[in-house]
Amino acid sequence: MIDQCSLELTPMLTIDAALLRINEAIEVISESEKITLKEALGRVLAEPVYSSINIPQERNAAMDGYAFSSSGINTKKTFILNKVGVSWAGQPFKGELLAGQCVRIFTGAVLPAEADSVIMQEHVQVDEQLIHFPVEVDLGQNIREMGEDIKQGSLLVAPLHKLTAIDMGLLASAGIEYVTVKRRVKIAFFSTGDELVGLGQALASGQIYDSNRYTLSGLLCDASYSVTDMGVIPDNRQLLQDSFLEAAQNHDVIITTGGASVGEADYVKEILSHCGTVDFWKIAIKPGKPLAFGKIGRCYFFGLPGNPVAVIVTFKYIVEPALKQLAGAPIMNRIQLTARCTSSLKKAPGRQEYQRGILSQEMNGEFLVASSGKQGSNILSAISHANCYIVLPIECSGVQVGDKVRVDLIGDTFY
Ligand code: AMP
Ligand code: MG
Repeated sequence: MIDQCSLELTPMLTIDAALLRINEAIEVISESEKITLKEALGRVLAEPVYSSINIPQERNAAMDGYAFSSSGINTKKTFILNKVGVSWAGQPFKGELLAGQCVRIFTGAVLPAEADSVIMQEHVQVDEQLIHFPVEVDLGQNIREMGEDIKQGSLLVAPLHKLTAIDMGLLASAGIEYVTVKRRVKIAFFSTGDELVGLGQALASGQIYDSNRYTLSGLLCDASYSVTDMGVIPDNRQLLQDSFLEAAQNHDVIITTGGASVGEADYVKEILSHCGTVDFWKIAIKPGKPLAFGKIGRCYFFGLPGNPVAVIVTFKYIVEPALKQLAGAPIMNRIQLTARCTSSLKKAPGRQEYQRGILSQEMNGEFLVASSGKQGSNILSAISHANCYIVLPIECSGVQVGDKVRVDLIGDTFY
């Protein structure tokens, strides 16, 4: 495959081929740890969780109303029952319910053993202890059966599922206090570049603020990762090599930005091949062509390009699937939409492009997408107000107004 923009002759991998190679290289974290449910949001479950109880544990009322036994009741006529007690949520009625009797009952309260019907309070008339029921009430209704949500012994959540807020509720409803999860993926990241300056310092000529570390620390915000920010390392061979080796000792993954290209001060590939194994690629995508993937000892290494938009795109499409795989979480497919493009887009064949766009939806449901502005891989402003990528395949040679294009949402939407 030839990138016609740069007239470069080095073969480039398609993104699918690159993802496959990473996928084959990565081994899921095997260690797990037991934590409290409170700490478990976003963690990857290592063992199945079964329910030791039925939910509901007992038959209970689905409505506020009156509970009774339907036996002997003729619903063709009105009828009157004698209220003999109350079943509150948390305080069941303890007596026996006889023919001709009912109990006042509230939502979630246990049904007396003899009762099989609950009639909504709105449908009855109350005359002190006497409850008047209208004709044609629905018998056998408004009852939550024992175990209708979850049967004792059944699977609540399968392993390798990343626990969501909803799972937290589900597990708590079964009284699960502890879960066994995969240990966190340990990730170190740092920026490389002599021109980079930290926040709080004035910029001298030729300097820029290090924005990539802020982007990455945001993108790495995930309960299944434990992250070490190693700061900025200058373009110095020895310092870089020392940092790589130090990080590789106690992390599963190193992510660097900058210096991954082939400039005079781009040492990443060279050091990686010196200290570990390197699978340095040019991937046929834009932005984000130069990307170093390899291993130092047991630690995976991703050397991302320096340009800020390339960092975001390569992280989302290449690094993140790898981190999820490592963490044990299933790799999901991104939801893809087709939209009518309202901008003309320039593109040369040779690389799959992730142009930044603004997606909207018409009243008739049709999706429209417009370019979010300048598409340089240094232009953070145009990605900051974009909500999607317009994904243009390798062979595409530009888009006319009205053409249909593939769109990926920038936010995480997977299936
Ligand atoms: P490099 O890959 O080192 O050649 O960097 C490519 C471009 O990205 C250059 O314009 C760098 O100044 C810029 N760049 C590299 N690292 C960062 C960073 N951490 N924050 C912002 N821009 C960066
Ligand atoms: Mg650099």
